[in-house]
Amino acid sequence: MTLKESTLKPETANTRHHVKAGDYFFGIIPAGSTLRIVDLEGNQAADVLFYNAKNPEERYSAMDTIRSQAQVYLSAGTQLRSNFNNPMLDIVADTCGRHDTLGGACATESNTVRYSLEKRCMHACRDSWMLAVAEHPEFGIDKRDITHNINFFMNVPVTADGGLTFADGISAPGKYVELKAHMDILVLVSNCPQLNNPCNGYNPTPIELLVWEH
Ligand SMILES: [Zn+2]
Repeated sequence: MTLKESTLKPETANTRHHVKAGDYFFGIIPAGSTLRIVDLEGNQAADVLFYNAKNPEERYSAMDTIRSQAQVYLSAGTQLRSNFNNPMLDIVADTCGRHDTLGGACATESNTVRYSLEKRCMHACRDSWMLAVAEHPEFGIDKRDITHNINFFMNVPVTADGGLTFADGISAPGKYVELKAHMDILVLVSNCPQLNNPCNGYNPTPIELLVWEH
């Protein structure tokens, strides 16, 4: 776990987006810019997919990222790599220290398995991504492009026998992670609506996205 603070000031950011609990963000950040994701109230999970904005067939790859850093958790110093094994973004600052890329995003189907059958009607990150894709055809993404993702601020420890546990979140109000883009990046965020998961503190809350363009 590597904690590192940023020197960037929020008031100098070029753009700021408030993303409500259960809402999505879908947009492009240019190469060289810095994206900060802020856990405004603490214990929130931001489920994020990254694509090469010029060629969305190139996208974030958990396997390539884990292999190249020989570490399953993401934190400051992690380089996010693509399925073409190119650097996409570097995590340049992180005040939380634990981000998951193994657990995947919540879906109505997985919620019925993990919680109970009557939870199927509740909102899920996969639905938020599908809505984002349907509402923004201009980005050229469809449902087959929804692949493995990063769960920022989510605490998913690997057990001694290789299983995954969904543990209490370790984030807190105002904690953030900051990423510097190596290429024009299309960012798709589902601010997780799931209130049955301890990672969300059973209470989904808003996040903020800040972008500094250099
Ligand atoms: Zn979710």
